[in-house]
Amino acid sequence: MKVAIDGPAGAGKSSIAKAVSKKLGFVYIDTGAMYRAVAVYAIEKGIEIKEENFTQEVLDNIKIDITYEDGTQKIFLLGKDVSERIREADASIGASNVAVIPAVRLKLVELQRTLAEKTSVIMDGRDIGTYVLPDAEVKIFLTASSDVRAKRRLLEMKEKGMEADFETVKRDIEYRDKNDSEREFAPLRQAEDAVLVDTSDMTIEEVIDRITEIIREEK
Ligand code: C5P
Repeated sequence: MKVAIDGPAGAGKSSIAKAVSKKLGFVYIDTGAMYRAVAVYAIEKGIEIKEENFTQEVLDNIKIDITYEDGTQKIFLLGKDVSERIREADASIGASNVAVIPAVRLKLVELQRTLAEKTSVIMDGRDIGTYVLPDAEVKIFLTASSDVRAKRRLLEMKEKGMEADFETVKRDIEYRDKNDSEREFAPLRQAEDAVLVDTSDMTIEEVIDRITEIIREEK
């Protein structure tokens, strides 16, 4: 079974998808981590994020591996664990910029589809229900107001000991939403057959229960 969860930045997709996967015994695939890893590659190699710089040769050199430890996804770039590095602010903005480049998307979509072939998955991202897994049995579009999303993201960053302020986090989220919704290839959009869940006034437990219920109805 395949479950697609899409939505804007900070809607709670990854926390929810992680919790629901654990509950139902699915594998959780975080596709945002892959765009972030490509951004980290560009930053570390000093490659300016522009379409013409991502030639086939450059793309072939970007080796991304995904593993699971106790159900948690780990991501490796050229064999190095970058699971924490990809959460930094430059990797967030960089991911949104590399995500506009069709050749980058095609490379990552291939990896995502291969991972989803093997087992039951909950995959989260921006284009999962519309492009990566159009045949997913369950599609959810998770959203919340940008204020609520920024507040949640700020809290999460503070809990991890990262420096952040509300206005910067909100600006970053709005920048990424705009970039993600306006790009030409596989933009962020609710699939016609997706269930919309607005989590602005819901607790995390309520969202987990609601999503679990939607998946169980389909099983
Ligand atoms: O989900 P996360 O915030 O980690 O994603 C980082 C960025 O990667 C997003 O802002 C978006 O630009 C891009 N992305 C995407 N398609 C996906 C997942 C993420 O374009 N399926």
